[in-house]
Amino acid sequence: REAKSKMPNYPGLEQFHLIEKMGDGAFSNVYKATDRRNGQKVAVKVVHKYELNSSQAGSKHLNEKFKKRPRVTERTNILKEVQIMRGNNHPSIVKLLSFSESEEHFYLVLELMEGGELFHQIVKLTYFSENLARHVILQVAHGIRYLHEERGVVHRDIKPENLLFERIPLIPSRTPVRRQYDEDKLDEGEFIPGRGGGEIGRVKIADFGLSKIVWSEDTATPCGTVGYTAPEIVKDERYSKSVDMWALGCVLYTLLCGFPPFYDESITVLTEKVAKGHYTFLEPWWNEISLSAKNLITHLLCVDPAERYSIDEFLAHPWCHAAPAPPPAPT
Ligand code: ADP
Ligand code: MG
Repeated sequence: REAKSKMPNYPGLEQFHLIEKMGDGAFSNVYKATDRRNGQKVAVKVVHKYELNSSQAGSKHLNEKFKKRPRVTERTNILKEVQIMRGNNHPSIVKLLSFSESEEHFYLVLELMEGGELFHQIVKLTYFSENLARHVILQVAHGIRYLHEERGVVHRDIKPENLLFERIPLIPSRTPVRRQYDEDKLDEGEFIPGRGGGEIGRVKIADFGLSKIVWSEDTATPCGTVGYTAPEIVKDERYSKSVDMWALGCVLYTLLCGFPPFYDESITVLTEKVAKGHYTFLEPWWNEISLSAKNLITHLLCVDPAERYSIDEFLAHPWCHAAPAPPPAPT
């Protein structure tokens, strides 16, 4: 984490006191900050408008002519991200508080998610118990349901890095799943929603940078004139939503075992595995995970988008309604 003294000064962002960097990507930096007017804690996503010429990047003597190369698609993309976020209003979705821009940057002021990425919690815990995974994934699923059914929006970038905890989750430090092959992972307390064993708080969907509107809001019909819409457009709208369902399946798989369903060092091999939908419930890691969970994943990691579960089918699956197992009796 960057020290206070190293926080950059962004013109036009004086209203906010930057505290620390929370995340960074190729063209965006996210900072924890306080609003000087009211002391409210927020997150500020700073997006650079110009691409640094790669050969010049890092040079202290940047030629202005080379430095400022507008990222052509950036403006429309950011405005789309902002437009979609402005319309969102759901407890499972990170809220946009305000938007502004300076000559070189866009600023998205966001609801602060102090708990950080779901990704980091998976790394920390190795994997989640089914109860905990269910508690987390249902919050995400209700966010997706809202986007798909009420907003006509496809997120298109659902992954553990874009799922954030509102506050630092107090999750039992060891997984409650008893696995004979792994002595180290014996349970230390199960997480039972509302019954102790940890305080998880809310998980929310962030990063609408790749999201897309597939239904126009005012008419609640596919974009364009209904009667004249070609079948491939109607199908495309349905299929585009299914990309979020595939991703949800990948997240659920990863939560339950601690590694993703598709992985290979080689991008070519990985791409091939995904294209064919080649994944397995690898032994011994999946041995003690319920058949119901596996069945649900099978309906999400389904190559044919027409057969893949929709969000409503997901939410209707028995695994989503299974009562959490009682906590283990004290010994
Ligand atoms: P990018 O398009 O660069 O991936 P994101 O919106 O995903 O941008 O933000 C990058 C990272 O910054 C996230 O993965 C997360 O770690 C952190 N981050 C983003 N938004 C917030 C927020 N509202 N509160 C806390 N951290 C955030
Ligand atoms: Mg992201």
